[in-house]
Amino acid sequence: MEIDIESPHSAAWPGIIQRYKRYLPVTADTPVITLLEGNTPLIPAVSLPRLFGVDIELYFKFEGMNPTGSFKDRGMTLAISKAAEEGAEIVVCASTGNTSASAAAYASRAGMISTVLIPRGNIAQGKLAQAMMHGAVVVQIDGNFDDCLRLVRALAEERPVAIVNSINPYRIEGQKTGSFEICQQLGGRPPDYHVLPVGNAGNITAYWKGYREFFYNGLIDRLPRMIGFQAAGSAPIVRGMRIDKPETVATAIKIGDPASWKSAVAARDESGGLIEEVTDDEITHAQKLLASYEGVFAEPASAASVAGVAKLSRKGFFPKGACVVCILTGHGLKDPERAIAIAEAPARSSANIHAVLDLLDRAVEARKRHSNP
Ligand SMILES: *Cc1c(COP(=O)(O)O)cnc(C)c1O
Repeated sequence: MEIDIESPHSAAWPGIIQRYKRYLPVTADTPVITLLEGNTPLIPAVSLPRLFGVDIELYFKFEGMNPTGSFKDRGMTLAISKAAEEGAEIVVCASTGNTSASAAAYASRAGMISTVLIPRGNIAQGKLAQAMMHGAVVVQIDGNFDDCLRLVRALAEERPVAIVNSINPYRIEGQKTGSFEICQQLGGRPPDYHVLPVGNAGNITAYWKGYREFFYNGLIDRLPRMIGFQAAGSAPIVRGMRIDKPETVATAIKIGDPASWKSAVAARDESGGLIEEVTDDEITHAQKLLASYEGVFAEPASAASVAGVAKLSRKGFFPKGACVVCILTGHGLKDPERAIAIAEAPARSSANIHAVLDLLDRAVEARKRHSNP
């Protein structure tokens, strides 16, 4: 087979700031702190629409393929670059995990100190490992994410630090590039429905901003409907009230008082979309389906978008042929403990060929029965 070494897009990919600088608040003087984030795959679904009993064109935008394994890198490259431009030496964030992993990685590249406040006992092991390895000052707070964010705001009043949470407008600016990529990957059109998990609500705000900018610049001729999903135990926007003790297995969206609440509601209403909820059981089921039928391993929060598509499919929500993009916000390896808890445990065998054969034959039979639903 011929290989054209000049064509692969990703080989020359410069990261989102270089690629989209015309749409971002940067100048020639802005130092670009990048890990070449962005350019993540838009993977077409092969099985789930059939399984959900719908005739839709479904894609997964796999943001878990970013350098630190979540979409947070898109906003962090810009937030850290601007902090560097402004001469910041210390950055600080509250995080359910992925923001701290990303902040720690980009800060280390910029030669800055990062400080991250995380809720004690609620952080996925992969995310904690990342913040620790990148040398962040990691503080576990006896409280939830909302407490951490409150403390970060107070801390910034006392010390000369740059906040890199999504209340930092550069985060939203960087994250909007996800919309640009989707439109380009779909050949110059937006999806009909853009589905994503909603936690602090920065991402839904950012994607909506990105689509609108491409629309007003004449690059696309219509806008998608924005469809957000919260976890049922952590659904302040759906319920219309702050949740004091949010609960969900999807720790990345375990947030009771979203910072970008108003702009999430605006994205929903301006686009004619929805923000609804899915249960932890639905999230877990969707995470397993995604891994076992599509070959894509995403973390629980990401699977909320797929659980949402399943739920709306059951209600007959999607018109035939609709183009639906699910944002898979983070990689499944971020939370290995959860995956091991919900998946089938490895079988155990003596080191004997007959025992292994017997076990395999039975397992293969069971799998075959299972895959013909
Ligand atoms: C941060 C995060 C979310 C939530 O995004 P918001 O912008 O806070 O709504 C969802 N999934 C993953 C994996 C995340 O890291």
